[in-house]
Amino acid sequence: GGPKNLVMTHGCKGSVLKAEEIHENDPRQRLVILGSGWGAVSVINQLDHKKFHVTVVSPTNYFLFTPLLPSATVGTLELRSLIEPVRRLLAKLGGYYLEARAEDVDFENQLVEVSGVNKSEGRKFYGMSDYFPYDKLVIAVGSESMTHGVEGMEYCNFLKSITDARDIRRKVMENFEKASLPTTTDEERRQLLSFVICGGGPTGVEFAAELYDFLNEDLVGYFPAIPPEEVQVHIIQSAGHILNTYDLKISEMTEAKFKRDNINVITGARVGKVNPTSVIYKDKATGKEVEIPFGVCLWSTGVGMTPLVKTLVAKLPTSQSNKHAIETDAYMRVLGTPKETVYAIGDCATIPQPQFVGKVMEYIKEHDTNNDGTLSYEEFKSLANKIVAKHSILKVFLAHIDEVFEKYDMDHNGKLDFDEIQAFLRDAEKSCTALPATAQVANQQGTFVGKRINTIYDLTSAEEIEKLPPFKYTHLGSLAYIGGNDAVLDMGRGMVYSGLGSEYMWRSVYFTEQVSMRTRLLLLLDWSKRAVFGRDISK
Ligand code: FAD
Ligand code: MG
Ligand code: MG
Ligand code: MG
Ligand code: MG
Repeated sequence: GGPKNLVMTHGCKGSVLKAEEIHENDPRQRLVILGSGWGAVSVINQLDHKKFHVTVVSPTNYFLFTPLLPSATVGTLELRSLIEPVRRLLAKLGGYYLEARAEDVDFENQLVEVSGVNKSEGRKFYGMSDYFPYDKLVIAVGSESMTHGVEGMEYCNFLKSITDARDIRRKVMENFEKASLPTTTDEERRQLLSFVICGGGPTGVEFAAELYDFLNEDLVGYFPAIPPEEVQVHIIQSAGHILNTYDLKISEMTEAKFKRDNINVITGARVGKVNPTSVIYKDKATGKEVEIPFGVCLWSTGVGMTPLVKTLVAKLPTSQSNKHAIETDAYMRVLGTPKETVYAIGDCATIPQPQFVGKVMEYIKEHDTNNDGTLSYEEFKSLANKIVAKHSILKVFLAHIDEVFEKYDMDHNGKLDFDEIQAFLRDAEKSCTALPATAQVANQQGTFVGKRINTIYDLTSAEEIEKLPPFKYTHLGSLAYIGGNDAVLDMGRGMVYSGLGSEYMWRSVYFTEQVSMRTRLLLLLDWSKRAVFGRDISK
C-alpha cells in the first residue's frame, strides 16, 4: 500500500476509524494539528466541529500551563494541577488524538510523517507507512532549550515539561535531605545547597523567586539542621541585566529585590562549561574565570528550533532564512507552501518584518548628527535606546552594546559606518523572531488561525479570502513573579507595576487564563492548601 492507504485514526473514546472512510462520507476537511501546547489548544478552542475532522498529533497527551510551571518545582503547586488532558479538550469537537511525534511533512502530497512514542518492533502505524494525510495543517510544535554548544548539559536541569519540573522538585528535596544527614561534611552541604541558574530570563527569575519563598516559608520550620545562610541562589546572566526583554525599570527593581533577598545576580558573564557539581563562567569585562559549585543547576538561556522545525526549514525554499523559526506571512501561512494549507504559530513561527533593515537604517541616517556617514561609540550608544523603543526585538542585541560595537567595527577604526551597521542589523534580523516566544503570542496566533480557517470554509471566492485581515498582536503586558508575594508587570510603553496587590494580580491573571473549571479548582485547592499547611516537602 502507498502512503495514502489504510490510514486510521484513533478515536477519543477508544474507537478506531479509517480516515478515508471518514473522508468519503464526510464533507469536513481533515485538519491536522501538530502539538498540544498553547498554540494548538488556542486553535482547537475556535474550531467548528461541523467543518473540520480534527486530529492532534503530539508526543504529550496533555496541555501544560507553562506560566505556573516554576511554582511546581518546590511544591507550591501540584504538577497535576497544571495540565489538562488533550482528549478532554478534543471531546467537545469530536476530535482525535494520536500519541506520536511528527518527523517530517511532505508539503506536495499533503502528508505528515509520524513516529509513535511507544511504537514497538518497527511496526508501522498505518499498514505499510507512517504517513498521515491532511487538507489543512497547523504546525505548533514549540521550541527547545538552546545549549549554545556548552559542554556538560547532562548535569543540568531544564524547565520546559512536567517531567523537568518533577526532576527538579525531586532533586531539591533530595539535596535538602542529604544536607541534613549527620554524615554530610560542611563542604558537601554547601555544594548541595547551592542553586545555580544559568539565564536571567523570566523562567530563571521565577525559579529563583520560588526557591526564595520556599526557603523563607518552609525551610526553617522543616529543616532545623540547615542554617538558612548556607543556602545560596546564583543567577548567571550574559547581558547587563536580568529580565532584559522587559522594561529596564523592571530589571532594576527585580535586581534590587534579589539583592535584599541575598540572591546572587551575576551579570555580564558567560557560562563556558558545566561540570558534574560546578559551573565555570567567564566575566566578560575582566576575562576572569570563576567556578561555582552547585547541587542543582537550571539551564534556561533561551529557546531554539525543535528537530522537526530544523527539518522543515531546510526543505522549504530559500526564502526561509531565520535561524530560530519557520517564516510565515502576515496570515500565519508558511512561506513556500500552497496557500491556506499550512500554518505555523507560536514559538516555532515568526513573521519576517518587511524592510526591517531598511527602516532602521533610514532612522539611523537621520540621526547621524554630524552627517559623516559613521556612528561613533557615543552616537551609537545614545541612539540605541531610541531604536529599541521603536524596534523592541533589537533590545536583546543592544543589551550587549559593547560587544556589538566591537564585533561589527570590522575595520577597527572605532566607528561604525553604515555598511557595518547594516551587517549588524541583517544578522540581528536572522537570529531573532519578530515577536517574543510567549504563551500570549502563541495564544493570539492560534486564535487567529482557528477563526481564519473557520471563516474560509464558508467563503467561495479568492477575493473574499484576500479581504480577511492579517494577524495583529496585542501586547497585554509581561508578568513575572519575583518572590515574597511580589510580581512585576510590564505593560509596554514604559508602564510598570509592582508591589502591593501585584501578587493578587499575578494569581488572578493566570486564574482567568486557565483552560477549564477543573484545573481552576485544582489550582485554588493547591493555593489554599499551601496557605494552611505549607508546601508538600516529600520527594
Ligand atoms: P508549546 O506550548 O511548547 O507546545 C508545543 C507542543 O508541541 C507540545 O505539546 C509538544 O509536546 C509538541 N511537540 C513537540 N515536538 C513535536 C513534534 N515533532 N510533533 C508533534 N508535536 C510536537 N509565556 C508567557 O506568555 N507568560 C509566562 O509567564 C510564561 N512562563 C513560562 C514559564 C516556563 C517555565 C516556560 C517553559 C515557558 C513560559 N512561557 C510563558 C512561554 C510559553 O510557554 C511558550 O511561549 C508557549 O508554550 C509557546 O506555545 P507553543 O504552542 O508554540 O509551544
Ligand atoms: Mg502548541
Ligand atoms: Mg513565534
Ligand atoms: Mg556620525
Ligand atoms: Mg568601523
